[in-house]
Amino acid sequence: MVRVRFAPSPTGPLHIGGVRTALYNYLFAKKNNGIFILRIEDTDQNRYVAGAEEYILEALEWCGIKFDEGIHVGGKYGPYKQSQRANIYAEYINILIKNDKAYYAFETSEELNALRKEYESRGETFQYGINNRKKLKNSLTLSSSEVSDLLNSGHQYVIRFKVPENKEIIINDIIRGEVRVKSEIIDDKVLFKSDGLPTYHLANIVDDHLMDITHVIRGEEWLPSLPLHVLLYEAFGWEMPEFAHLPLILRPDGNGKLSKRDGDRLGFSVYPISWKDPKSGEIYRGFREDGYYPEAFVNMLALLGWNPGDDREIMSMQEMIEAFDLRHVHKAGARFDPIKAQWFNHVYLQARDIKLVAEEFKNELSKHGVDITLEKAEYISEMMRERVNFVKEIVDESMFFFKAPEELDTKAIKKWGTEKSVEWINDIIEKFKEMTTFESTLIDEVMNKYVKEKELKAGNFYNTIRICLVGTSKGPHLSKIMEYIGREETISRLEKGKKYF
Ligand code: GLU
Repeated sequence: MVRVRFAPSPTGPLHIGGVRTALYNYLFAKKNNGIFILRIEDTDQNRYVAGAEEYILEALEWCGIKFDEGIHVGGKYGPYKQSQRANIYAEYINILIKNDKAYYAFETSEELNALRKEYESRGETFQYGINNRKKLKNSLTLSSSEVSDLLNSGHQYVIRFKVPENKEIIINDIIRGEVRVKSEIIDDKVLFKSDGLPTYHLANIVDDHLMDITHVIRGEEWLPSLPLHVLLYEAFGWEMPEFAHLPLILRPDGNGKLSKRDGDRLGFSVYPISWKDPKSGEIYRGFREDGYYPEAFVNMLALLGWNPGDDREIMSMQEMIEAFDLRHVHKAGARFDPIKAQWFNHVYLQARDIKLVAEEFKNELSKHGVDITLEKAEYISEMMRERVNFVKEIVDESMFFFKAPEELDTKAIKKWGTEKSVEWINDIIEKFKEMTTFESTLIDEVMNKYVKEKELKAGNFYNTIRICLVGTSKGPHLSKIMEYIGREETISRLEKGKKYF
């Protein structure tokens, strides 16, 4: 039975890289009829940020990523929050101590700093481990009575992992293949602190073991920790899960990891939903607030670093589940392309039920103080959606439906206007007045007939009329705009517009 987990630390909003990690775990679990777990890794109390846990839940729910077990849904492997599992870690650290796989170290942070400086002055880097642990102040060098005296007196301590000597660690990553590391380069990482809480490394592997995790799928930044994790599994004598480390999401320009700063600089979001920093009050923009549909966002994100094995791009969650395979995750970083991201939303907007688009458009419009019926909203959205990427943009692009343009584009007038423009406008106004019903196809007939009879250049004529109605030479089907605003308003805009030609 496949069991995978997403294990975020609640230290702030979830970057889209984190969302993608959750997504790949979800796709993998569903593909294999497995279980997907949400575990909150909050043992580092100093980095805890209020609201971050709620943010993570809300963001993933918006994405349609659902969990089978976790802090919010329960399950028989709980608690799913590490701060509620302190007694479990204490039990397991004692097993390591008892089996001589871990030891107490008593250096204070001042002493460690002094050691670091001393090494630096010799041009070396201090690393607590195989090469010097026998010379430092710890339970490997002190007698057992000295150790218990120190512990009983409340002296500050940590428990460090005792990295085995002369060992080649062979790690296998589904995405990266085999990596070999010599144990000498790994330091004796702190596993447990005197506050009674474990560090990430201990808590993470104890929980993965106890929660029967079969595959650890996580970001590339954790790859350097893998040799230590492998050694920890060996120290406990536990079977290891399989590992897959996902490539970074890269900025659109250059090679670095995509960061908030890139987003601010280039005008896009790097967070799924918006976040208000509880300390600074700063607001971080989100894809949701930028107007993305969650399906489009998730589809775009899935393809940043994975492909379905063919050239499909537009895929539903179900299709992605069916196609998902870790062997199709790329090794190299995936470049984020903000234009492509918008294109995904464009495609989803075109395919969306027009009734829904109309409702969204109507709501968006009312924020701008314009209220229209659903029927009218549908008429306009149907006409406009192919020209935009987001419903919000329909509002910007369709204001002329509700208000006559305040100014007319002088460049467009220069390009399309002729000395005959005013005459055409006068003629067409007369023809419009004679019509019995002012309806789009009939309006087209009247205008086409006029162009033919007068042997006009269609571009000059239609753009002259369009500029009067819309303000520019761009926009949707002209006669539809006229039908929508009605004969009286059409004529009034033509009368006003005439003066500019
Ligand atoms: N708590 C770690 C994080 O915030 C989890 C890493 C892992 O998945 O092992 O990314």
